[in-house]
Amino acid sequence: MKKYFASILVAVAIILPPGIRASGQLANVEYVHLAIEQASGISIPWHPAVSSKQVANLEYLLSVIDMANLEAGKLTQYRFHTSSMKQAVNTTAVHMAIDSLLAADPENPRTPGSVILMIGDGMGINHVNCSGGYISTLPVSAWVSTDPADCTQWWCITDSAAATTAYSCGIKTNNNFLAMNPSKIPCETVAQRAARAGYRSVIASNDSLTGATPAAFFAHTTRHEPEVILEWLALAPPMITVGSLVSPAAYTEQLISQYNSGEGENGLINGKPFFWMIEEAAIDWTSHYNDLPAMLARMDDFNDAVQAAVAFVGQNPEITLIIAGDHETGGLTENCVFTDLGHTGVDVPLYAFGEHAALFTGGVIPNDEVGRRIRRIIFP
Ligand SMILES: [Zn+2]
Repeated sequence: MKKYFASILVAVAIILPPGIRASGQLANVEYVHLAIEQASGISIPWHPAVSSKQVANLEYLLSVIDMANLEAGKLTQYRFHTSSMKQAVNTTAVHMAIDSLLAADPENPRTPGSVILMIGDGMGINHVNCSGGYISTLPVSAWVSTDPADCTQWWCITDSAAATTAYSCGIKTNNNFLAMNPSKIPCETVAQRAARAGYRSVIASNDSLTGATPAAFFAHTTRHEPEVILEWLALAPPMITVGSLVSPAAYTEQLISQYNSGEGENGLINGKPFFWMIEEAAIDWTSHYNDLPAMLARMDDFNDAVQAAVAFVGQNPEITLIIAGDHETGGLTENCVFTDLGHTGVDVPLYAFGEHAALFTGGVIPNDEVGRRIRRIIFP
């Protein structure tokens, strides 16, 4: 199947008249649909909700094809730079076309797995060890490097927006950017992709709903535009549950009991793949304030959350559990002394359990590669 994608990109470029490929011009969704059909030689069902009158930006459509390539394990180049929210929503037909192409591969049987991603915002190895809690008893599976896309000669430190976009979309982007590439092209997040497949996603954080980490799973804007983030939240498919909570530990236990009972407010269905992201955001805030006791209190809760999740995956080993920081905050030393008020660029620890834990072992893994591996578990 992968060979199809290479030919599709080439063929789309050949089929489309040169004028249409110019930056900023609009193309008809139907036209691109036809181009993909001709390139692949496969008949692709047309989504009834998308009329031929609706237009989408060709640049965005090509970026969607890039995302499919990425899903197939191949990273391709993003080439263009404008898209609006409306255009992004209107590309269902192209998403479906790509699904059809992937599903048509008899040598690539799809057995999707579930993933739980637990993010300790700002959690470096010394946050773990200074807390002396449950996570410190776990073996580190790998280290995650966290550079953003917009490194300069003098500065190469990520914020939570770029770091979480690496996890949610599998791409490196600029600081402040949520689920869009450095050219501001939206990328489909793993939660949005799961929703499109009919799988439930839960995005839960003790940050506000417009916080960078939760927002990087459903919004395509910058972290400094909370009103736009809320617009995206309103557009989120019902299969994505976004929750702001007090205690990640209490929420994790609630999700597990809902899963075990096969019901609950989130409609979790035992046996169906899912994606959960559970964030403890206050490790970051307390570290910015260099407030060690407050940070340790947040680590206590996160330790309990992780302990519950590890036990859950022990009972359900077909699920993959990943626990990681998004970056380190505060320059915490081995002796538990803060040395910085901001983020540092040090690699953060990652812990992995369950069926596909082996994907996350050994050495240093770039954060965008972590995101791509998560996606490959749910969409093999
Ligand atoms: Zn921070």
